[in-house]
Amino acid sequence: MEFTLDIELVRSVLRSEHASAVSDLSQRGALRAVRESLIRQDQRLLAAPDAESLACKPGCAWCCYFTVDVRAVEAFSILDFIEQRFTPDQKASVYAEIRANSRKFRALDESDRVTFNNKCPFLMKSECSIYAVRPQSCRNYHATDSAGCQQSFESPDDLDIDPEFAPGVFQVGGAHVEAFSAALTKLGYDTTAYELNSALNAALSEDGARDRFEARQSPFLSLVGDEVFPQYDDLGP
Ligand code: SF4
Repeated sequence: MEFTLDIELVRSVLRSEHASAVSDLSQRGALRAVRESLIRQDQRLLAAPDAESLACKPGCAWCCYFTVDVRAVEAFSILDFIEQRFTPDQKASVYAEIRANSRKFRALDESDRVTFNNKCPFLMKSECSIYAVRPQSCRNYHATDSAGCQQSFESPDDLDIDPEFAPGVFQVGGAHVEAFSAALTKLGYDTTAYELNSALNAALSEDGARDRFEARQSPFLSLVGDEVFPQYDDLGP
């Protein structure tokens, strides 16, 4: 789907989010900064010029079977939320699902990962169980007609399916994430994009992952991320 770039809108989001994120990262730390940035992201998406055209609504979860990418700081934020909000049984169940999903991704080659449908471990009764801390990419994913999302779900090998989206929401969301990542980079933090389950599994299983992140090093020794999907080295759990 083609659209016209709204340069002023994108620049305004980039400038504003970058300034807020740099300030928060410097003064409040990365975990607090990402929580604040996620709140601003939702506010910006809601205020986008075409936000009212979205078909997304509670209970519609076709996109929660698609591959999700996260930054390390988002993975740590999600794990903190789970520790605070989930019962012991819920934690055990979701951690087991994360481990199983991580093994599935590990067994796939890069092209198969692109077309892999897999239920997100946080999708419960057709709703997101970590909604307040769901990843940036989940917040940005949207459609103006859920039929396209359903079609992508039902035909994951067909990469020509292009669900209709809202250009304003798309540009605002993309600029917001770019600006937050640029702020992380400016402060020296890892901004690699990791597959969600793989990042969470690494954060749970690797000693010192959070310390390495705070020390501005690569947090996950078992993963090397790229734009969307992880590459595993020989140290993987
Ligand atoms: S984190 Fe939540 S919104 Fe994102 S894919 Fe999982 S269930 Fe869906």
